[in-house]
Amino acid sequence: VKDLNNVIKLDDTMETIVEILKKILKVNFKISPDDVAYILLIKKEFDFKIAKIKGFEESIIKENEKNVIQMILKNISHNKKVIYKPSISGESTSEIFGLIKSLLFIPLYAEKKLFGVLFLAGNRENIFTEKQLEYFEILANQIAISLEKAYLYEEVEQMSITDSLTGLYVHRYFQDKLENELKRSSRYGTELSLIIGDIDFFKKINDTYGHLAGDYILKTISVILKNNTKMVDTVARYGGEEFVIILPDTGKDKAHLLAVKIRKEIENYNFKFQEHQIKVTMSFGVASYPSDAITRRALIEKADKALYKAKQEGRNRVVKS
Ligand code: GH3
Ligand code: MG
Ligand code: MG
Repeated sequence: VKDLNNVIKLDDTMETIVEILKKILKVNFKISPDDVAYILLIKKEFDFKIAKIKGFEESIIKENEKNVIQMILKNISHNKKVIYKPSISGESTSEIFGLIKSLLFIPLYAEKKLFGVLFLAGNRENIFTEKQLEYFEILANQIAISLEKAYLYEEVEQMSITDSLTGLYVHRYFQDKLENELKRSSRYGTELSLIIGDIDFFKKINDTYGHLAGDYILKTISVILKNNTKMVDTVARYGGEEFVIILPDTGKDKAHLLAVKIRKEIENYNFKFQEHQIKVTMSFGVASYPSDAITRRALIEKADKALYKAKQEGRNRVVKS
C-alpha cells in the first residue's frame, strides 16, 4: 500500500501493481512467480484494455485481445468478491492461454466503480488458499483506489494542457513541445516544419453572426486540423483564432502541401450555424528547421512573418518562409 501511495502516474501505478503482485506471491504466499501467469486489465474511458501480461504468449493474447477481455469480464462478480476456480482440469489447456490449471479473477473496485481486473492463472490445481483469497480482496481495493487516483491525476494534467473550447493543446504546451521536438530533430538530424494559421476576418464573423457562431467555427476548424494531421504532429491553439501545427520529420515542401490541403478544405467546408451558412477562410505561414531557423523563437518568427505576408497578399493563402 505504501508503494502504491508513492506513485501518481498511471504507468508507474501499473508497474507498481505488478511489482506488488510478484512480491506477495513470492514473499507472502511462497509461490514462485513463474507458477502464476497474469493479465492486468484496466479501464480506459469506456473500454477495457490489456495493460500488463506475464506468463502467457504475448503475441497470441494481443491477437485475441477482444476475446480475452470478454472472457475475463464475463467471469468477474459484481459483489467485489474474487472468483476462484481451483481446478479446471476439463478445460486446462486452451489455444489462447496455453496450459493452465486454476484461475483467479480479481475485480478492482473502488466504491462501486470497476477500474480493472487482475486475472491470474496457476500452472497447478488449488494454487491459492482461502486465506490468500481474502488477502487478494483487500489488496484489490487498494489497487483500485490507486488506479482511480492515477486517472484523476491524468485528467487534471490533461485539463491544464488542453484548451477547453477546442480540445487542442494550449500555447504553453506548444512552446514546450516545440523546444523538445527541435532538440530531437537536432539529435537525429531530421527536418521539422511549423505551420501557423489565422482565420481571416474573424472579428467580422463574430460581429455578424455572434460569438457563439465564432466558437462553433473555432471548434470545427480544430477538428479539420486534427483530421489532417498524424499522431506525432502537435496541433495547438496559439491564440484566439490562431493555430499552430508542429510537423516533426517533415520538410518545407511537404508541410506546404499539407497547409494548402487544409486551406482548401476550410474554404470548401460548409460552415452552418443555426440558419446561417458562413464562408470561412484561413491564411497560413510555413517555416522549417533547419533551413529557415534553428531556434524555437526564430522559427516561430519566420512562420509568423510568412503568415503576415499571406494576409498582406490578400488572405486565404499559404506562404512559405
Ligand atoms: P485578419 O484577417 O487580419 O486575421 O482579421 P481578424 O478579424 O481575424 O483579426 P483580429 O485579430 O482583428 O480579430 C480576431 C478576433 O478573434 C477578435 C476576437 O474577438 C476573436 N476571438 C478570439 N478568441 C475568440 C474565441 O474564443 N471565440 C470567439 N467567438 N472569438 C474569438
Ligand atoms: Mg489573429
Ligand atoms: Mg484573424
